[in-house]
Amino acid sequence: RRMTLMIPFDNSYARLPGVFYSKQTPVPVRAPRLVAFNTDLAAVMGITPGEVEEMAQVFAGNQVPEGADPIAQLYAGHQFGHYNPQLGDGRAVLLGETVGSDGLRRDLQLKGSGRTPYSRQGDGRAWLGPVLREYVVSEAMHALGIPTTRALAAAETGETVLREAPLPGAVLARVASSHLRVGTFQVFAARGEMGSLKQLTDYAIARHYPLADGPMGLLRGVRDAQVKLIAQWMGVGFIHGVMNTDNSSIAGETIDYGPCAFMDSYHPNTVYSSIDRMGRYAYSNQPDIAVWNMAQLATSLIQQMPDREAAVEEATEIVHAMPDLLQEAWQAQFRRKLGLTEAQEGDAELIADLLQRMAQNQADFTNTFRNLGRAEARDQFLDPVAYDDWLVKWQARAEADALEVIAATNPAFIPRNHRVEQMIQAAVDGDYAPFQRLQKVLVAPYKDQPDHADLQSPPAETEVVQATFC
Ligand code: AMP
Ligand code: MG
Ligand code: MG
Repeated sequence: RRMTLMIPFDNSYARLPGVFYSKQTPVPVRAPRLVAFNTDLAAVMGITPGEVEEMAQVFAGNQVPEGADPIAQLYAGHQFGHYNPQLGDGRAVLLGETVGSDGLRRDLQLKGSGRTPYSRQGDGRAWLGPVLREYVVSEAMHALGIPTTRALAAAETGETVLREAPLPGAVLARVASSHLRVGTFQVFAARGEMGSLKQLTDYAIARHYPLADGPMGLLRGVRDAQVKLIAQWMGVGFIHGVMNTDNSSIAGETIDYGPCAFMDSYHPNTVYSSIDRMGRYAYSNQPDIAVWNMAQLATSLIQQMPDREAAVEEATEIVHAMPDLLQEAWQAQFRRKLGLTEAQEGDAELIADLLQRMAQNQADFTNTFRNLGRAEARDQFLDPVAYDDWLVKWQARAEADALEVIAATNPAFIPRNHRVEQMIQAAVDGDYAPFQRLQKVLVAPYKDQPDHADLQSPPAETEVVQATFC
């Protein structure tokens, strides 16, 4: 029978030599059931949706669609600072790429699609919770205007996955500008495979930074993209949770939503991830970690440079410039969050002063910024006077259009942790209404939506999520 679902594949990575990947088809599952499909994203990618049953078969991995060339990609990476020489897609396959109506090439990957040669001890699977979390949070990030991988579809597998307990299995169809990571470069550099490293560098330049001049141009491009990305994460109170070099995207997108979370009450040291016991990837450490990751990329890229000494010098200059660039981007971001469009002396102090008062007063990050200059902001502070005192200084500085800038810059809606957990629990019990609702609201995060005001509230004491798992 002819398929109705049509994906116009054009697979460039699978055309590279076999050293970059292993051919790997998804491992079929018992009872595929499509639980989400992103029609808007499909349209941009040039995908013609098909019958639901057929899409369930494809996005659960039971049927390889025409034109796909499924592979598991090889990469390495530093995990919590320790180099692991071989990671790779242990539970994912890249089906292929499409070039969309917007001219952009995108990867289509199934995550949770079974074991691959890179699975190590893992089962190759994902459970429904993280699949739905990634679906909702990545789409929310996109709507917030933050570079990110996206979610095309999700399917339940009808199989059980064993984690702390037996849990329902699922597969996520993930879309990315590419799945190239810092770790993709590290593996070939560490092995001394210069031919492959050069080929990968050329590929990444052609695909993501066509104007970049050689490996150092690529480094500069990735650095700048990471600077923008991290400043935006900080601006919405996003904590990635696992900023390992294998989760650091060459395209500068947010990738690999594991135990990620948005902060409720502000504190710079906030960590949610259950595996981040030392707080390496705490909220305020993220800029430093991004620099550390770029240093790893630099170390890998310079291996291929004929004049090593000059390359070290240039790479050092590129990476050493990053903290200042991050500071500038961060300040621009937070200046706008205060409704200020033009830089002035004293801005940094005004921002730092507010953040310090917020931390001391357990102020909700999202709701404080959204309501700056309005009565609701002071309600966020344990001691409202702490806000009042700051407000006087802000009022002396604020420009006429401040409130409009504030509303356009500070989201009303983020995927709050407790809501995400409640959504997952409901879905496990067969109720997808909270999943639908979160998606619907989070498509327009900067818009007041009075009917959904309950989604703006921080968690009640009993709802607080202490730790996130992946
Ligand atoms: P992550 O922490 O999700 O970025 O994953 C780190 C590495 O572990 C990657 O190589 C993953 O493919 C692999 N991995 C994570 N979970 C599993 C699993 N359930 N089965 C096989 N490999 C996995
Ligand atoms: Mg191979
Ligand atoms: Mg990963």
